[in-house]
Amino acid sequence: MDIIIDEIIRSRRKTIALQVSHDARLIVRVPYNTSEKLIRKVIYEKRFWILKKQEEAKGKYKKVYSKEFVNGERFLFLGNSYELYIVDDFELSLIFNNELFFLSKKNLNKAKESFIKWYKEQAYKNFSERVAIYSKISGITYNKLKITNARKRWGSCSVKGNLNFTWRLIMAPLQVIDYVIVHELVHIKEKNHSKNFWNNVRIILPYYETQKKWLKENGHLLIL
Ligand SMILES: [Zn+2]
Repeated sequence: MDIIIDEIIRSRRKTIALQVSHDARLIVRVPYNTSEKLIRKVIYEKRFWILKKQEEAKGKYKKVYSKEFVNGERFLFLGNSYELYIVDDFELSLIFNNELFFLSKKNLNKAKESFIKWYKEQAYKNFSERVAIYSKISGITYNKLKITNARKRWGSCSVKGNLNFTWRLIMAPLQVIDYVIVHELVHIKEKNHSKNFWNNVRIILPYYETQKKWLKENGHLLIL
């Protein structure tokens, strides 16, 4: 059986550790000088454990990832989840009243598109406001704000000082959104992840590490 290694992370650690991520990727952490041969050997020895973990992850992954757009199903917005209510006679495709999502029965075949469109609109509106606030606080100016479809990349910034954020981020709590925004804003000034970069982030958000951790642990849930 052939097991694919998705990522090898070399560091100053002393032992080899295997990790199966939420989306069933195999991540191998090894000391700097570990040979390819030794990594293969460890993986071979642990192959049944890896496959079992990957099967489990795929099962959970599917449950989280495939929305059915039925009554009572919950959808995330700014860190909270809200129930969906399907209504019969309804002209608009999707409405949110701060308590429930209402989706027209007529538009059920376009349910996913309706949600994405709504999330994108909300993302643009909310992120614009937050970016403006943090631009003022930090004194860092930016060019344009764009909402992307990225799956894994929460945000990025371009050489021209444009900021990009995925609409999926609007499902996260506001503090987490703020962290991603500040992270990218500081990147306009500082392109790398140097000590100075993190210091600049910390000046604006002293507790950013909590949000960073949240994103790492829960980011896989921010999906439609
Ligand atoms: Zn970065």
